[in-house]
Amino acid sequence: MLTKYGLEGGLLYAFSAELRDQLQSKGHAKISLDLMPDIQTDQLGQRLSKPKGRNSLSNHLRKSGIAPVKSALVRDCCTNLDKDDMNAWAQALKSCPVLLTDMRPMDEAISTAGGVPFDELNEDFSLKSYPNIFCSGEMIDWDAPTGGYLLTACLSMGFHLGHAILARHDG
Ligand SMILES: Cc1cc2nc3c(=O)[nH]c(=O)nc-3n(C[C@H](O)[C@H](O)[C@H](O)COP(=O)(O)OP(=O)(O)OC[C@H]3O[C@@H](n4cnc5c(N)ncnc54)[C@H](O)[C@@H]3O)c2cc1C
Repeated sequence: MLTKYGLEGGLLYAFSAELRDQLQSKGHAKISLDLMPDIQTDQLGQRLSKPKGRNSLSNHLRKSGIAPVKSALVRDCCTNLDKDDMNAWAQALKSCPVLLTDMRPMDEAISTAGGVPFDELNEDFSLKSYPNIFCSGEMIDWDAPTGGYLLTACLSMGFHLGHAILARHDG
């Protein structure tokens, strides 16, 4: 999904941990997007190479089935693109290089990975170094796939450690 501030959506979310690591280590991350996944590059090149007639390039692309938002992204990301070379357009649409420079602020995050590593935890989610302190949910360093798994995992951890505390109390 293209927004006024960048890219978002399930696909990006699935790669967010990897992208976060690259942003941290290199200051940027490069991805390439297939903006026309339903068609092969050569077929797309043939489709775009049909005579433009009196159409402007934008109209020609639009009438060839390329949504304006896609051609705008290609223009933005492929600054060296020969605008009249339709095979180059096809390649750029099939593999549009996007440079990511930052993530949205923490306040807007749907989920975060916390700072407590799993190997610092006992099986009941108490800290190895402070066994009377328990950790649960996003304070632990883990990434869950989106789609309900975050809440499921957080609630399951809470359930598990709650029982562990009760067992200690009973014991
Ligand atoms: C907009 C949005 C949509 C989401 N949709 C989904 C979804 O559809 N499915 C899904 O699975 N997950 C979803 N999530 C993610 C999910 O809500 C979180 O993964 C989950 O709530 C994390 O639980 P948690 O207990 O680790 O942290 P939190 O729910 O953030 O709880 C931490 C609590 O600690 C409190 N706290 C913080 N600091 C202190 C302090 N110093 N002292 C005392 N208390 C403190 C906070 O006030 C908060 O109540 C969504 C998140 C957002 C923001």
